Amino acid sequence: MLTATAGFRHDSIPTARQVMAVLAASAGFSVNATEDLSLINADTLRNYDVVMFALTSGELPFSAAQKSALVDFVSSGHGFIGVHSATDTLYQWADYGRLVGAYFKEHRWTQQGSVVVENPSHPASGGLAERFSITEEFYTFQDNPRGRVDVLLRLDPASVGATGDYPLAWAHAFGAGRAYYNALGHFPETWRDARFERQLASAVAWTSGR
Ligand SMILES: [Zn+2]
Repeated sequence: MLTATAGFRHDSIPTARQVMAVLAASAGFSVNATEDLSLINADTLRNYDVVMFALTSGELPFSAAQKSALVDFVSSGHGFIGVHSATDTLYQWADYGRLVGAYFKEHRWTQQGSVVVENPSHPASGGLAERFSITEEFYTFQDNPRGRVDVLLRLDPASVGATGDYPLAWAHAFGAGRAYYNALGHFPETWRDARFERQLASAVAWTSGR
């Protein structure tokens, strides 16, 4: 779990780290939260099943070897999870964009909105019902990832007085590996929301291939 930032830094980072530790204990996995970029390397990644970029931002200064190590790690059959501003990260690295699925465009709505669960049967959807309401900073993306990913959540545009298609969470294959992204997570309260936590725990299981 990497929470390093080279741009905007979310106040929810400490909560995110606490919540993932609790989820790990209850779901039976272990998590190592860090801001040490040097841990993203081929040797260290051999000890892990999933890499999670949670609330990262900006152009994190990875070397070419580190970038190759992360791409090889996922494409050889492991997992990647991106949360919220993971899409506001590493715009200059195209392979990362393919891994996380899209790049952040703007946060047009910070308010209560209705989220539609498009694919409740996907293992990473956490068994959620068909929609739920939550107060969040809802992202839009530079291009719509629908078509290259399996959209799991989308914003009901009518709930924020808008029209259009706004995917909020998705899953996709990346080589022999699996990638998952969830745009929610701006507020500490979201990380403490049982519906969000179920998705994260399910995403860990799904991306790890368990
Ligand atoms: Zn945010």
